[in-house]
Amino acid sequence: MHRPRYDDWSLPKGKLESGESWEDGARREVEEESGSTGVLGPQLATTTYTDRKGRAKEVRWFELRSPQGDFVANHEVDEVVWLSPEAARRRVTRPSDAEVIHALDEHLEQAEPIVTAPAPTPRVPSLWWRVPNTPDDWFSPDELDRARRYRKPVGRARLLRMAISTVALLVIVFAEVAPKLVDALAISNWVLQLIVIVLLLELVSTVISTPFDAWLELRHDREWELSTQTERGFAADLAKGLVLGLVVNVVLLLPLVWVIRTTPTWWLWGWLVMVTFTIGLGFLYPVLIAPIFNTFTPLEDEDMNGRVDRIADIAGVRISGTYVADESKRSRRDNAYVAGLGATRRVVLFDTLLEHPPEVVEQVVAHEIGHWRLKHLRKQLPMIALLLLALFAGLKGFSEWTWIFEQAGVVTSGDIPYVGQPTALPLLVLAAQVGFGLLGLLTAWVSRAFERQADIEALDLLEQPQTMLDMQRGLHTKNLADLEPGLVKRLQASHPPAAERMALTSAWAASKGVPVSR
Ligand SMILES: [Zn+2]
Repeated sequence: MHRPRYDDWSLPKGKLESGESWEDGARREVEEESGSTGVLGPQLATTTYTDRKGRAKEVRWFELRSPQGDFVANHEVDEVVWLSPEAARRRVTRPSDAEVIHALDEHLEQAEPIVTAPAPTPRVPSLWWRVPNTPDDWFSPDELDRARRYRKPVGRARLLRMAISTVALLVIVFAEVAPKLVDALAISNWVLQLIVIVLLLELVSTVISTPFDAWLELRHDREWELSTQTERGFAADLAKGLVLGLVVNVVLLLPLVWVIRTTPTWWLWGWLVMVTFTIGLGFLYPVLIAPIFNTFTPLEDEDMNGRVDRIADIAGVRISGTYVADESKRSRRDNAYVAGLGATRRVVLFDTLLEHPPEVVEQVVAHEIGHWRLKHLRKQLPMIALLLLALFAGLKGFSEWTWIFEQAGVVTSGDIPYVGQPTALPLLVLAAQVGFGLLGLLTAWVSRAFERQADIEALDLLEQPQTMLDMQRGLHTKNLADLEPGLVKRLQASHPPAAERMALTSAWAASKGVPVSR
């Protein structure tokens, strides 16, 4: 049952009245809280705990058979559900309640054996490591070939873009472009210097990436019928991205450079600024930033809404909103994600995804609700905070390497360290690329584990491995995803590749003894 005061799922229990037997107390509490009466079975388990006032408490648990009666929501309990022992064990909030259900399960098995013990089942592989797989097992030669032909020019163009931007950044740093620019403009105020240099870096990166993006969105993806982007839409996205990049960078860098210039323990304060910024962005992204590029409307399809509610109900989570993003104006690719923290948390479905049969969409929704239920967004925050601390410690070490700052033409005076000069920004961006590259590998590794876990959660919730396989095949081939990524790409990817997810699904099916076809 669900108790609104604690927002938890638990089993009925309560205090004995004076002179009351354990059995009578159990019957009365169950009836008061869940409205059910029934035949009391044997005692299953005894648990002990210490209450908030430090008093030792003992709880005796009983089996109750043939329950009858109607539940009426009240201030103590607002929902009662009947679940199989396995589902109930997953649902309850406290591990001690799960143990009681386990005891019931064992008792049921001993009392009335319904099925003979099955042979040891194959285990679902570990979440943390790659699940062995062969793309040939899951995709036809045609599908693999098509993905290869689409991917090859994209990979080459990406490499070219990366090479050009690295060279451009090296030139900006060692040709002392930033110091020369602020000199030429005769700007002595550090805030203005910072804004000018952020603008310079933004413009250079836009000039380099625009031809690539234009080729991809307006030509290559159109030829492969993936893009629906118009020249006008492309230009609008570009302008919005430029302004947004400038605003977000200035909002982050102004306080960051300020603490560097003000305190000797800047790396600790700077880390705090960075963590606050990251959490703030987590809250604001779905309500402030994502709506700049897409329109989000609450999911109106009644059938689909019912399906989402049903999945949320099985998972025991409360959905604060499912939104549809108008991505079809730009692309035919399907996607869905959970975004936001606290009150801004929501499930977002691309309108392109809703073109699939509802059973396929359900699989995607179950995966996203899996992320939600397992609190993946919130769990990532402490890890990111720790990694950022390592990054700032690295930055502190780097800041003492005066030679490199002198090579970059950074001049400083007084107590202000080199890193506190806005003219050092291009050099820091260059150094941060190495740092962020390493951090990215770690966060991607954790993210892939979370994706495997969300897939398993979706399978546990809906128990439809065949539909899951069809969804994985359908979405990855339609989106022309990389079906055979190499080692480097696999290590950088936030999701395991399609064949691996399908191998995981089939391992799950095998562990439950459910047959699936490829
Ligand atoms: Zn996911």
